[in-house]
Amino acid sequence: MRYLILSDIHSNLEALEKCLELAEGKFDETLCLGDLVGYGPDPNAVIERVRSLAKVIIRGNHDKACSGLSDAAEFNPLARLATEWTRQRLTPEHIGFLRSLPQGPLVFDGFQMVHGAPIDEDEYVLGPGQALPALRNLTTQAVFFGHTHYQGGFLLTPKGRFQSIRCQGKPDGLTYELAFEEDGRYLINPGSVGQPRDGDWRAAFCHLQYGPASGRVLSHSIRPAGDAEENAGRGPSRCAHPAAGTRPINPRRFLQRNNIEKLPASKLD
Ligand code: ZN
Repeated sequence: MRYLILSDIHSNLEALEKCLELAEGKFDETLCLGDLVGYGPDPNAVIERVRSLAKVIIRGNHDKACSGLSDAAEFNPLARLATEWTRQRLTPEHIGFLRSLPQGPLVFDGFQMVHGAPIDEDEYVLGPGQALPALRNLTTQAVFFGHTHYQGGFLLTPKGRFQSIRCQGKPDGLTYELAFEEDGRYLINPGSVGQPRDGDWRAAFCHLQYGPASGRVLSHSIRPAGDAEENAGRGPSRCAHPAAGTRPINPRRFLQRNNIEKLPASKLD
């Protein structure tokens, strides 16, 4: 089975459409790791698109906050503004849909899907502190996670060595390809469709090819081809706050421009 794995779309319809265009014909099923909404200008359209497309969708922290399942008190100022803005625009049906999304981790076809970490859907898996315990306790060979908006991940080799998976950008758009070793254990983040925070502002997603007959799993993560300038209008987040309009925007620059207190990347929910 060939899967297209999407995460952290954040109401960015333009970036989602670009990913789907690039992935066309290369997948059988679509899976989504949460955060359909928050930040971007098209929450209802993104929900409609993903809902009609994805076989499995799990909830993210923004899906919970924007549908009122949790409050946004822990969010940074930008995320709080975007949550309020999104709440006011979501249709009642879409609020109900977001509230009904299952919580990760969810085991699907031999691997797990989770928004944050396997032990806590809201935890950020940013380094060995969170990744190592998760890898040591995996009940499946691989976990696909989102939440950090960093494409890449972590692995335990068959000999038990911990390694980070860093995706190096290439002009042709294919950034990383990984063949899973049978006894290896993997935490894979496809990156964010709508608001990457890993320094590459192109929309990111991941293909997973799963072959039970051969026992091998092949995953590769992709970013749209083209130069950064051209893709700037497609991939990056567009902030949902009305004051920001709908131009492509780097949230860190937005924070500076608007004199909101500068926040470290880890505080950008
Ligand atoms: Zn997110």
